[in-house]
Amino acid sequence: MQSLEAELEQARTLDVDALADAIESIGFECTRCGACCTGEAEDDHTATVFPDEVRELQASTERDWRDVARPMPYGLADGEDGPEGETFEWALQTDGCGDCAFYEEDDDGVGACVAHDDRPLICRTYPFSVALAGTSQPMGEVVDSVALGAQQEAGETGDEEGVVRAHECEGLGRDIPRADAEDLAAALKERAVRELEEAIGVRDTYEPTPVESGEVVVHDSEGAKQADGTPIED
Ligand code: SF4
Repeated sequence: MQSLEAELEQARTLDVDALADAIESIGFECTRCGACCTGEAEDDHTATVFPDEVRELQASTERDWRDVARPMPYGLADGEDGPEGETFEWALQTDGCGDCAFYEEDDDGVGACVAHDDRPLICRTYPFSVALAGTSQPMGEVVDSVALGAQQEAGETGDEEGVVRAHECEGLGRDIPRADAEDLAAALKERAVRELEEAIGVRDTYEPTPVESGEVVVHDSEGAKQADGTPIED
C-alpha cells in the first residue's frame, strides 16, 4: 500500500478537467430529497468534518462546538452515560432523529440545509468521492465508478486507483452543466487533498492519551481534544 504522502501527491496532481469529465459522464442533479442529510433506520447520519470546518460552521451559525460536531462514533464504547473512549476525527452533529443537526424541514416536510453556504466539503461533493487510500467515503454504498482520462485511455476501469466513485443518490444519472461539473470536480480534489493532509496530521500528532471513565478523547490533526473541542494539554 502507498504511503499517505504518496497518496497526497497523487491527490494534488488530480486533473480537475478529468474529474469533471467523470462527473459529467455519471451525471448528477440534486433533487433536494434530503437523503444525504438524514439518518437511515438504525444508523445516525455520519459525515466527517474537519476541525477548521467545525470552527467555520460555529462562526456562521453561532453554535457551540458540540452543536456542530460530535466525536466520530467508530471505536467508542457504550458507557453508562453515553459513548466513551478514544476516537479519531469528528462527525457532523445529529439531532434526536439521527439527522444532521443542520437539516431542517419546513411545515410541508421540505428539507433544507441551514448552513448551505458554509457546508463542509463532504456535503459539497456528495454523492462523489475519489478512491485513494486515506480518503474517506461517505455513508452511501458505491453504485458507480469511472476511471480518469489517462486510465480510460489505457483501458482501465472499476476499482483502479484514482477513480471517481458515485454513492447511492436518486439524483445520479441526470444531466449536469459543465460549469457545475467543474465546480464539483474542484471541490472533490480539494476534499481528497484535505482528507489526506488531515490523515497525515492525525498520524503525526497522535499520542496515546489516558481516558477517564465516561469521557471521550478525540484525536484530530491538531492533537487530542475533549468532546467539546477543547484541546487536552500535555
Ligand atoms: S451540513 Fe447541510 S448539507 Fe451537510 S449533511 Fe448537514 S444538512 Fe446536509
